[in-house]
Amino acid sequence: MTARVLVVDDVPPNVKLLEAKLTSEYFDVLTAYSGPEALEVIAREHPDIVLLDVMMPGMDGFEVCKRIKADPATAHIPVVMVTALDQPSDRVTGLEAGADDFLTKPVQDLALFARVRSLVRLKVMMDELRNRKTTGSQLGWDDDEAILFDTTAPTDGNVLIVDEQERVVERIAKALEGVGDVSFVPGGEDAADRAREKNYDLIIVSLTMRDTDGLRVCSKLRSFEETRHVPILVMVDDGNTKLLVRALEMGVNDYVVRPVDKLEFLARVKTQLKRKRFADKLWENFHLSMQLATTDAVTGLYNRHYLTSHLDTRMDAAQKQGKDLSILMMDIDHFKKVNDTFGHAVGDKVLKEFAARVGRNIRGVDLAARYGGEEFVVMMPETPADWALMIGNRLREEIASKSFDFDLPEGEISVTVSIGVATSKEGQTPAQLLEEADKALYEAKAGGRNQVVVAP
Ligand code: GH3
Ligand code: MG
Ligand code: MG
Repeated sequence: MTARVLVVDDVPPNVKLLEAKLTSEYFDVLTAYSGPEALEVIAREHPDIVLLDVMMPGMDGFEVCKRIKADPATAHIPVVMVTALDQPSDRVTGLEAGADDFLTKPVQDLALFARVRSLVRLKVMMDELRNRKTTGSQLGWDDDEAILFDTTAPTDGNVLIVDEQERVVERIAKALEGVGDVSFVPGGEDAADRAREKNYDLIIVSLTMRDTDGLRVCSKLRSFEETRHVPILVMVDDGNTKLLVRALEMGVNDYVVRPVDKLEFLARVKTQLKRKRFADKLWENFHLSMQLATTDAVTGLYNRHYLTSHLDTRMDAAQKQGKDLSILMMDIDHFKKVNDTFGHAVGDKVLKEFAARVGRNIRGVDLAARYGGEEFVVMMPETPADWALMIGNRLREEIASKSFDFDLPEGEISVTVSIGVATSKEGQTPAQLLEEADKALYEAKAGGRNQVVVAP
């Protein structure tokens, strides 16, 4: 993953050092040497993340951070404060200014890359969701706007801590007050399995347990379907770089070093919880757009596009296996009259009820689609022509024998349907099959409607 990183520091060698490190990891680096210059670069270049020195003459880092977070156009850009080790109070001030995370000078490579990657991943997801939001509005469907511009952390997260030391867990739970529900597993062989029992938003794993291999827990968490996408934060002892590198390579999202700084810890937990919330939202959005792309909004049946692509696949399979595939092409009789008599809204209700009756009277392997305004197609795999005729007649009966009752003052509506049946032949294309069914349908109409005709 590459990203554009803005490095801000009034001391040029500090800037050069971070620039060199980040460039070696293929990040694009922008630089600024003062607060006002940083704000200018941000407005112009929209970086993916800002590394901000605290101590700068004139406008200090806190002030810059505050301004970034106060402007709706830039509030979503993650800010990492680069603080001096001997100034712990800087962290409180930094958090109050809206900082997303901290790095301590001198900046260590591993920490730098882990923080930058973790925050950039979060931002990429937020950006993607924003883009889809725009597409969504263009398509005319509305989404929950609030979440897109909500840069605060969730307060209803489900956090699991894996650690053998109960005292440590208690302390962590206290530090995490306000982020949601915190539960705990005391290590053990089945620690990872326990994580599958619930929908966790974050799993914190100690890598320094005596009787449990924390790395193994992490690797299991990454391999289980249920926990594969849940963020993992590990706790390590200072100096155990090798262990940490392995954990990060395994796909662990971030880490904290013991003794754990409460504020840093909280900031990192919040970042991961936000990330999870956006990931969930994206996933939901994906399913929704899949649904929108494949179904018809009025009837809930598949749309024409989906039918034709699916028919292609199914005809191929049927021909390879030497099996019959039949389709029904259905068109409601004199539907224009329904609209003219009862209005378009009632017409829509008729379409909906019609679709529901069709749906209730076909098999699970069959596929019903809205093919046009008041035209529907049912695709039936492994169905010879005589069965298809029988099913067609059953559907025709189902529509004609029971009137459509919507409690209208004008009374109940009688609807009939004409149906053309076609069965696929060797070497036939989906378009040819549909055309055959359409011809049969035309004959059903010409023959007086409310009937089923099988293509010759
Ligand atoms: P025929 O028996 O020959 O099929 O007669 P028909 O009136 O059903 O056929 P025609 O093609 O003349 O008219 C179809 C009507 O379906 C016209 C159109 O306004 C209506 N229609 C198409 N889509 C919709 C829709 O989504 N909602 C409603 N209410 N009406 C629709
Ligand atoms: Mg019609
Ligand atoms: Mg028609």
